[in-house]
Amino acid sequence: DADRALLEADGALGDESTDGAARPVVAIIGRPNVGKSTLVNRVLGRREAVVEDVPGVTRDRVAYDAEWSGRDFTLVDTGGWEVDASGIHLRVAEQAEVAIELADAVLFVVDAKVGATDTDEAVVKLLRRSKKPVVLVANKVDDQKTELEAATLWSLGLGQPWPISALHGRGTGDALDALLDVLPEKSAVSAYGRGGPRRVALVGRPNVGKSSLLNKLAGEDRVVVDNVAGTTRDPVDELIELGGKTWRFVDTAGIRRRVHLTRGADFYASLRTQAAIEKAEVAVVLIDAEDSIAEQDVRVVQQVVDAGRALVLAFNKWDLLDEERRHYLEREIERDLGQVAWAPRANISAVTGRHVDRLVPGLEVALDSWDQRVPTGRLNSFLGEVVAGHPHPVRGGKQPRILFATQASTRPPRFVVFASGFIEAGYRRFLERRLREQFGFEGSPIELSVRVRE
Ligand code: GDP
Ligand code: GDP
Repeated sequence: DADRALLEADGALGDESTDGAARPVVAIIGRPNVGKSTLVNRVLGRREAVVEDVPGVTRDRVAYDAEWSGRDFTLVDTGGWEVDASGIHLRVAEQAEVAIELADAVLFVVDAKVGATDTDEAVVKLLRRSKKPVVLVANKVDDQKTELEAATLWSLGLGQPWPISALHGRGTGDALDALLDVLPEKSAVSAYGRGGPRRVALVGRPNVGKSSLLNKLAGEDRVVVDNVAGTTRDPVDELIELGGKTWRFVDTAGIRRRVHLTRGADFYASLRTQAAIEKAEVAVVLIDAEDSIAEQDVRVVQQVVDAGRALVLAFNKWDLLDEERRHYLEREIERDLGQVAWAPRANISAVTGRHVDRLVPGLEVALDSWDQRVPTGRLNSFLGEVVAGHPHPVRGGKQPRILFATQASTRPPRFVVFASGFIEAGYRRFLERRLREQFGFEGSPIELSVRVRE
């Protein structure tokens, strides 16, 4: 129809076929300082990954939506692994293992100027064992001279080393083409497509009770064993029946299996969390209600919202709360989680089982909102009333008018509003608020973008 054509022409429509899942995952791995983040920026065509001259930075953002030659994929940057002087070898390998496990294909970056190190050899072993497709890139080949050095990397036994300069862009196109050749169309690690059990991520900072809750939900007390990285291949997801329906809890291996990294543990946790959220349709963020709400809790919540997934908040360890703590908790929630006041909430105890059954209605409400589509006619008549009752303030003698709006996608709901002039952020938030009041969207983030029409 006409709205749709207009939006498509405007590039406003998200590609719904990629909503919520399915795009293949590429992990960039390699030792610190070989140029992984620089390569990420090169692929993205913009500066998002932090490039540091000093190895050892930790970052939160690790997964990016990338596109090359018209194909979409998720790029996981492991450039932020935290390492220290001792035992780098072991940790790079451990961390690489996680990244490999979570990927459909791997870009393995080696510094051509340094050549293959013992650490690189250790990573090669992991790559072989994983049987995942690998594209070996020899980075820092800034000129023809260095190309010979790149050729020595044939010795790694991973096939052709692609000489590139992530910094200058030399050769990166060919290497990325080679990557697309081996990258599956659909992700085996993150894609379940639509249909099938709905996918839930259980996330939260360490010790909030994720594995306890998982055990409670699965109805059995499984022992969580500490595995040495690389010894076991756990199933990544678990199917659990709750409230008469089957749910797919994604990446439960990440909850059940604990890899202890002395440093870099935060980053590891952050990567796991990000990966689980990407795979899921809805996330339950577990928060330790006995403890003050921490920055890390807020960050996990934000990760869910940024990823556009539905959200349920579960305050755990309720059995440990006294009157006073309950009082303070409510204040903390208002202060720190006010931006997600729309999320369904359950106060639970993973240990006693208190109110654990309230999670399912929360999940259902959140997913319904996430899937919800408001017909264009209803949306516009509603916005018409809202705007008539509360017009945009006049600025510089002009008053931008709302021309019309449409919902460009679901999962999560995204709205595009066409206006005759610049719409202030405050007014946009007002419209968002009214949309929520009118149409619900409990448990789902919504997006509202504005296009200015002359
Ligand atoms: P990471 O730790 O693997 O993510 O590495 P970074 O991307 O942070 O890069 C480490 C350093 O190598 C930075 O100073 C980069 O500017 C530099 N670097 C990255 N790629 C290239 C390249 O192709 N050529 C040269 N000469 N330097 C590079
Ligand atoms: P995870 O790191 O998020 O998987 O957290 P765990 O499930 O390992 O729990 C961390 C600690 O909190 C363990 O000692 C649990 O027994 C305890 N715990 C988890 N949930 C509850 C709860 O609801 N009540 C109480 N009292 N303790 C809990």
